[in-house]
Amino acid sequence: VLDAAFFLRWLAAATEVMDREGDRLTELDSAIGDADHGINMRRGFNAASDAVAKEPPDTPGGVLVGVGRQLISKVGGASGPLYGTALRRAGKSLGDADHVTPEQLRDALLTAVDAVSELGGAAPGDKTMLDAMVPSVQAYGAALDSGAGLTQALAAAAAAADEGAAATIPLQARKGRASYLGERSIGHQDPGATSIALLIDAFARTAK
Ligand code: ADP
Ligand code: MG
Ligand code: MG
Repeated sequence: VLDAAFFLRWLAAATEVMDREGDRLTELDSAIGDADHGINMRRGFNAASDAVAKEPPDTPGGVLVGVGRQLISKVGGASGPLYGTALRRAGKSLGDADHVTPEQLRDALLTAVDAVSELGGAAPGDKTMLDAMVPSVQAYGAALDSGAGLTQALAAAAAAADEGAAATIPLQARKGRASYLGERSIGHQDPGATSIALLIDAFARTAK
């Protein structure tokens, strides 16, 4: 069930994967950015884990809002406000229910996509985190529509996020720091799309 405990397990898995894969994210960001994406994600998720350990939220919405707040306040640059606002708004959309349905999670994910689009002004194909988020949410919804359960739908979401991140390699960046490079941004995978894929994969593993 998608209760607070599920989202706390996701947060632990996400923090662990940022610790483990942070260097790779920073390396990707060193090719087309300022070499801090892994550092940013690691700092933000560790701060979020520490905050919820002190005062564990008792609803799914509370966990997501709490993580979002930490990312906004502890991570600068583009990714902190974008990730933070996305999670905070997704959490708010879940209200104070003590558990949510897979359909409600889909709505929360759509809210997260809208938040990133609105705040960052990017569209799919601009070589940003949206290039992993949008196909992932689509795959999740399509799986639910075809009768899949949560575990299967999240596995489909994770696979689509991974493909979406890989598909940023041939794209030219049109938003964020990477866009300053113009055509030289082509041939590198977007760091933010890559971290999204890691976070969705953490969801999928949590649901197994
Ligand atoms: P910064 O670029 O400020 O150093 P990070 O390195 O932590 O921040 O994050 C960079 C990632 O943020 C990019 O790889 C991209 O996915 C994402 N990003 C940057 N600008 C935007 C935007 N306007 N809309 C959506 N995502 C963005
Ligand atoms: Mg950076
Ligand atoms: Mg930076």
